Order: sequence, then C-alpha cells, then structure tokens
Amino acid sequence: MLKIEHIGIAVKDFANAVPLYEKLLNSQCYKKETVESEQVVTAFFRQGDNKIELLQSTTEEGVIAKFIEKKGEGIHHIAFEVADIHAEMARLKAEGFVLLNEKPKDGADNKLVCFLHPKSTNGVLVELCMERKVQG
Ligand code: ZN
Repeated sequence: MLKIEHIGIAVKDFANAVPLYEKLLNSQCYKKETVESEQVVTAFFRQGDNKIELLQSTTEEGVIAKFIEKKGEGIHHIAFEVADIHAEMARLKAEGFVLLNEKPKDGADNKLVCFLHPKSTNGVLVELCMERKVQG
C-alpha cells in the first residue's frame, strides 16, 4: 500500500456537512460525484497529499444510510492507494483478509476500488483504490 488516499466520513446531510467541513478544513469542496452502484453522493476535499470524502446516502436502504442508522455519523472507511489493485487484492486474499468484492469496481474520483470486510481488519472498513488508467 502506498499511502492513505482519503478518509471517508458518513454524513446525513450535505447541506449542513459540506459548509461545515469547508469551515473546518478552510478549503473548498472541489468535487461532488454520485456513485450509483453504492447509492451515495460524495464530496471531496483536498488536504495536502490526502483527501476527505464525505458520503451521503441517496436512498434509505443505501449502505451509508444503514451505517448511520447503526453507528451514527462519523468515520466510515480508510482508503489506501495501491500501485496494482489486482496484485494487492490477491496478496490480501492470500493473507486471509475478506474482500467484499472479488473484482475491482468503479469508485468515485476516477478510481478502481475494493473493500475489505471490517471483521477481518479489527472493525475498520478498508478501501483499496487505484487511479483508473485512461484507455488507449
Ligand atoms: Zn472512499
């Protein structure tokens, strides 16, 4: 793994959370993006080499809605940048970690992503992410 790429924070409501984090971080949200497959809308802030990703559910059944229902708002996942997501997934699987998706899937911010089940990582939802290469 290369570095912490971003930290994902589950929030109820962008109307409150985005301005609050703009004040907190003293920087502007530079991108909002919906990830249909995850039923979330994301808002990104750049802090030096790292990012903060706010996540708001787009439906009542979405994973973020369920997370907030169970645990309340707060840190949802830590994302690590990897050089080769396929190799890293194979390595972690061989080490006994539980992958939540068997193939890399499309994530926000032009990334291929894979999540590890928190039961295999001391309760922390870990995301692997790799910049999607431009085709051709
Ligand atoms: Zn993320």
